[in-house]
Amino acid sequence: MTRTLRHAAWTIGADREDPAPSARFILCRDCETQSEPSTSQAPTDRWALKHTGETGHRAYRELVIANLRTYPAAGNPLEQSEEDW
Ligand SMILES: [Zn+2]
Repeated sequence: MTRTLRHAAWTIGADREDPAPSARFILCRDCETQSEPSTSQAPTDRWALKHTGETGHRAYRELVIANLRTYPAAGNPLEQSEEDW
């Protein structure tokens, strides 16, 4: 995704300086109970299936947390200075 802010183009994406793995949660929309975070899908899916078995709740929301950072896009005067880092 690229947008122009203050007449300069920026892009946003995965944080190359702090590339922590994404964490995934599942939130029950019926009671707002939440799974433990996981970097893989299987544990949170198992949590939701178990929660359904225990409560009968069937509506969930997936939440993903990932480190993002903005970077100067092509043509942004800061682009060259960031490459020098
Ligand atoms: Zn629930």
